[in-house]
Amino acid sequence: MQKKAKLILTEAKEAFEKSPTTKLLYDLKVKYLGKQGLFSELMKGLGKLSKEDRPQVGKEVNIVKNELESAYQVRLQQLDDLEMNKKLQTEHLDLTLPGPDAPRGNQHPLTQTMQEIVGILSKIGFTVRTGPLIETDWYNFEALNIPKDHPARDMQDTFYIDDTHVLRTHTSPVQIHTMQDEKPPIRILSPGSVFRCDADVTHSPNFYQIEGLLIDKDVSMAHLKGTISFFVKQYFGTKIKTRFRPSFFPFTEPSAEVDCSCPQCNGKGCRICSHTGWIEIGGSGLVHPNVIKSAGLDSDEFTGYAFGFGVERMAMIKYGVDDIRLFNENDVRFLGQFN
Ligand SMILES: [Zn+2]
Repeated sequence: MQKKAKLILTEAKEAFEKSPTTKLLYDLKVKYLGKQGLFSELMKGLGKLSKEDRPQVGKEVNIVKNELESAYQVRLQQLDDLEMNKKLQTEHLDLTLPGPDAPRGNQHPLTQTMQEIVGILSKIGFTVRTGPLIETDWYNFEALNIPKDHPARDMQDTFYIDDTHVLRTHTSPVQIHTMQDEKPPIRILSPGSVFRCDADVTHSPNFYQIEGLLIDKDVSMAHLKGTISFFVKQYFGTKIKTRFRPSFFPFTEPSAEVDCSCPQCNGKGCRICSHTGWIEIGGSGLVHPNVIKSAGLDSDEFTGYAFGFGVERMAMIKYGVDDIRLFNENDVRFLGQFN
């Protein structure tokens, strides 16, 4: 029996040595050392031996079995090392390669538009002022010559917080704050969020305005028109014309709506300008004496002009965007185009 065990050991050792991979080595382990392997078969023969012989033979066969197990472990380690070395040589890792590019963001198109408008008008002396989003009824309406019965105060147009506070419906309250805090000459821009109960393809309940105010002595419509024409040429292009249409706003007198020749078709007529060649871009006028008075200034001494643009509208006209809601949907495929 011991002889047979040693034969198995010799045969197995040779097979282990010749095994080229860990997988084949494992198959050999099953063949010799598995539960139904050759060694287990041999051990079954112990039962047939006499009581006296059994312990000694069992001990010797076990020593052979242990030897076989350690031979397996040695070969396994050798093959593991070989396979690892081969892997390290073929799968070369270049740690000096640069990593994958991280996607780069850009500023929101409305932020870009506001910054562009501010940039243009700051060249002719305008500086930025901001104000609170929640205003009192007085700053948002009363001081701007909007009487109690004016339709703009309608609950359907204005978000009321309580009887005397509203989410500002325009950036014009900043005009009043500035005239109260600073002495003329005043030349400011107020960009920011405004709120109205309105939502469709061209109206959003929260949108952006940028407003300009100039207060000085002897200010006329000619100054206003010169400023707007300069701005339009800078923003849309030097070929773009400006025209004023008489209009009515409570806070200016006289008032004018501002149109520019359509930048998409150069005034020839297209879908964007409803085939008229002109697009309305905002409102303007000379500051109403009542507004100057309510801010605490002498309306005989000081005059001024004001103008306001919708930021979304300016971006939509310039880039040909036809749905205002795209600006608020946070779709990076849309927003990433404005770089
Ligand atoms: Zn057009």
